[in-house]
Amino acid sequence: MDLSFSPEELQFQQEVRAFLAENLPEHIVTATQNNSSVFVEKEIALEWQAILVEKGWAVPQWPQEHGGTGWTATQKYLFSKECYHAGAPMLIPLGLLMLAPVIMAFGSDEQKAELLPKILSGEHYWCQGYSEPGSGSDLASLKLRADADGEDYILNGSKIWTTHAHLADHIFCLVRTDSQCKPQHGISFLLVDMATPGITVDPIITMAGDHEVNQVFFDNVRVPQRNRIGEENKGWTYAKYLLEFERGGGFNGDRIRHELNHLKALMDSTRTHNPDFDARGAIANKVARLEIDLKALEITELRILSAISEGGNPGKESSIMKLTYTRLEQAVTELAVEVIGYQGIVMNPQENSSGLRPDYISSVVPRYLNSRAASIFGGSQEVQRNIVAKLVLGL
Ligand SMILES: Cc1cc2nc3c(=O)[nH]c(=O)nc-3n(C[C@H](O)[C@H](O)[C@H](O)COP(=O)(O)OP(=O)(O)OC[C@H]3O[C@@H](n4cnc5c(N)ncnc54)[C@H](O)[C@@H]3O)c2cc1C
Repeated sequence: MDLSFSPEELQFQQEVRAFLAENLPEHIVTATQNNSSVFVEKEIALEWQAILVEKGWAVPQWPQEHGGTGWTATQKYLFSKECYHAGAPMLIPLGLLMLAPVIMAFGSDEQKAELLPKILSGEHYWCQGYSEPGSGSDLASLKLRADADGEDYILNGSKIWTTHAHLADHIFCLVRTDSQCKPQHGISFLLVDMATPGITVDPIITMAGDHEVNQVFFDNVRVPQRNRIGEENKGWTYAKYLLEFERGGGFNGDRIRHELNHLKALMDSTRTHNPDFDARGAIANKVARLEIDLKALEITELRILSAISEGGNPGKESSIMKLTYTRLEQAVTELAVEVIGYQGIVMNPQENSSGLRPDYISSVVPRYLNSRAASIFGGSQEVQRNIVAKLVLGL
C-alpha cells in the first residue's frame, strides 16, 4: 500500500490550487463559511457549478462520455481536498450525484440525452422524494400511490423531509405501482415536474431555524408513464443503486478539517477578547483529541483511496466512514458552542456586543443544531451500525 502522491499528482494538485485561487469568488467562500444548513443556498451552489462547468470540472464522478473529467481516483480526491481547503461549497448532489448515475445506468437513451445536460447546466434543479411519514429506514413500506390511467399515472399521497422541494423544479419519486406483492416488488421510480397541478409543498422549519426540508403532497397528480425510469415495479433496484451514491459519497476529512480550522480561529479571537479564556486548557485538550481522531480518519481515507486506485471498492467501509464523519462533525460543532458560551443564545449578529467575528458567531448555534440531522439522513447511525455489525463484524 502506497500512501504518498506521485510528482504528476502533486503537479495536478498545484494546477487545481491555482485554478481555485483564480476562479473561486470571495463572496462564495463567505456564503459557504456562514452557511449553517446541509447545502449552501441554491444561487450560490449554481453559481459555483457554472464556473466548474465552464472549466469542465463540475462532475469528475461522471463518465467522460457524459461530461466527466476522466480523472483517476487520486485526482478526484485531491480535487475535493483542495476545494474544501479553499472554502468552496459542495455542489448540490441531488441531481448531479444521485439522480444522474441512475439515469446513466437505467434510463432510456432519450432520457439520457434530454436530462443529463439539463442536470449539468443547472437548468433542472431536482429534489429527492423517497421518505414518507412512516417510511424512512423502512423505506420499502412506502405508500405514495401511482395508479395507471391510460398513458399516465395518477399520484396520491405524500413525501416528507424533502430537501429543497420548495426550490426544486423537479422531483424524483419512489411510487407504489403494485400493493399486492412483497413491498420491494411493487415500487417504481418516477420523474415528476413540480409545476404539475395537484402538487403542494409545505415547509418544515428545523430547530436550527432553517427552511431546508418540506412535506410534499400529491393530490391526483397526472404524470406521463414515459417519465418512469426503467421498468415498472423495478424501482427498488434503482433506488438502492442511488443510495450507494448518497451514502458512499466522497471524502469528507477535509470538510471536517475546514470546520476544525474555523473552530481554532474562533478560539483565537475569543482569546484576544478574553485572555482568561480556556485558562485550564480543557477545550484545547478536546481539540487535541479531535485532531488525533481526524488524523486517523484522513489516513483511513488514504487507505481506501489506495485500495480504489488498485482496483478495489470502498464497499462496506462507507458505513464506518459515515459513522465517523458524523461523530467528528458533531463534536466539532458542539465544541464551537462551548467556545462561544453564553453568546450561543444570541442568534442575531447585531445584538452581539463582543466584537468577535459576528457572522461566524451567528452561525455557530444553527450549525451545531443542523449537524444533529447527520445522524438521521442518508441512513441513520443505528442503521449504519447494523450494517457494520452484519457485514464488517459478521455478527
Ligand atoms: C435534514 C434531513 C434531510 C432529509 N432529506 C431527505 C430528502 O431530501 N429526501 C428524502 O426522501 N428523505 C430525506 N430525509 C429523510 C431521511 O432519509 C429519513 O429521516 C431517514 O431515512 C430516517 O427515517 P425516519 O425519519 O422515518 O425515522 P425512522 O426510520 O422512523 O427511525 C426512527 C429512529 O429509529 C431508529 N431505527 C429505525 N430502524 C432501526 C433498526 N432497524 N435498528 C435500529 N434502529 C432503528 C433510527 O435510527 C431512528 O433513530 C431527510 C432527513 C433529514 C433529517
